[in-house]
Amino acid sequence: MVEKRSWAEPWKIKMVEPIKMTTKEERLEYIKEAGYNTFLLKSEDVYIDLLTDSGTNAMSDRQWAGLMMGDEAYAGSRNFYHLEKTIKEYYSYKHLIPTHQGRGAEHMLSQIMIKEGDYVPGNMYFTTTRLHQELAGGKFVDVIVDEAHDTESLHPFKGDVDLNKMQNLIDKVGAENIPYVCIATAVNMAGGQPISLSNLKDLRKLCDKYNIDIVHDMTRVAENAYFIQDREDGYADKSIKEIVYEICSLTDHATMSSKKDALVNIGGFLATNNEDVFVKAQNMVVMYEGLHTYGGMAGRDMEAVAIGIKESVEDDHMKSRVGQVLYLGERLIDMGIPIIQPIGSHGVFLDAKKFLPHLTQDELPAQTLASEIYIESGVRTMERGIVSAGRNKETGEHYRPALELVRVTIPRRVYTQAHMDVVAESIADVFARRDNIKGLKFTYEPEYLRFFQARFEPLQ
Ligand SMILES: *Cc1c(COP(=O)(O)O)cnc(C)c1O
Repeated sequence: MVEKRSWAEPWKIKMVEPIKMTTKEERLEYIKEAGYNTFLLKSEDVYIDLLTDSGTNAMSDRQWAGLMMGDEAYAGSRNFYHLEKTIKEYYSYKHLIPTHQGRGAEHMLSQIMIKEGDYVPGNMYFTTTRLHQELAGGKFVDVIVDEAHDTESLHPFKGDVDLNKMQNLIDKVGAENIPYVCIATAVNMAGGQPISLSNLKDLRKLCDKYNIDIVHDMTRVAENAYFIQDREDGYADKSIKEIVYEICSLTDHATMSSKKDALVNIGGFLATNNEDVFVKAQNMVVMYEGLHTYGGMAGRDMEAVAIGIKESVEDDHMKSRVGQVLYLGERLIDMGIPIIQPIGSHGVFLDAKKFLPHLTQDELPAQTLASEIYIESGVRTMERGIVSAGRNKETGEHYRPALELVRVTIPRRVYTQAHMDVVAESIADVFARRDNIKGLKFTYEPEYLRFFQARFEPLQ
């Protein structure tokens, strides 16, 4: 008898997409052309693409079959009603407004709920979320637990809200100037770290006391549920589906990027239990996205989302989804490579400050490391550090996040464990030559979300 049997993916492959192999000489040329920004590489020149888990999912045969069932009516598409029913059944939210992707929902919700001078607390910022809050006149306030900013901390729920920080903010600015608190599940910018249900319940009580709404950035809610099932007392026997429903039930509104958990390549939505917000959003969506029964999505795409939501909460799916991320992370730890722990839900985050300790934050260690990993092996990763953080609108200064990370993000159902082995070994090869790596500097800096299109050159 073997001691512990290996797990394998709960699917088999029906169609394959060949990928191109390149030489190191070619990659040096490609990354230079891309201004040392992995976002500007051509996907064709990438071997294993771990840039993001957003919209890179492999759909199931059922989802592909669902595409054929698209009802492309301008108004009242059958697929809209299927999606609306699914969201009620799986996520508890009463009203649905489809959007082209998550940021479309963030834009509308921010414009509807935030007034000039408001404060918007959240369990760490997300790039597009904070930008839309600021464009609506709000100021983001970080109320996540301190452990989230500590790469040494093994706290099991680094996505939890520090209720003292929340109370202090209420005392300082007044509840009337806090339209809502935004709660992300499996907090992206903290490395895919979960929030616990006990914390969310406490937050709900506090918010009820002061009449503050809770907005759920639910992009990775099922991944968060996996960690609750695994780690939180009293949830080991609950299904992912039940936990997801319970999380959603504790919140008032939600913004969703279906490109993550929901296993599709494009789409999003705004969901709410509030009639007033719903009516305002229905008015707004026709201006910015499309009619309220499609909101920028094709009927067939809404069908794929509805099916994807159901697949995303299956326990076997989530076990292998997060299991693959844990597998990669544990291999890197075994090789002595500094990563954020506990390992998060959707990717492994390399600690670039520890990986390249000889670089200052202004020498852009995470940006540099992402470009070196590409040069080494054709594996594409991305920066999550000072470049992603952007600048303070008022002072023009860089935001200086405590974390300087390279995100090695795993698309859902796309790569096998053999690909993960190649990734781990090529990162180890960069680690072995880390002392000779020099930093980068900006040569072009866009005004908004600069990390997407910025260009760099190596420091001499
Ligand atoms: C991706 C993402 C968004 C934005 O969604 P898009 O579909 O990319 O517009 C918002 N919040 C979080 C946490 C995300 O990961």
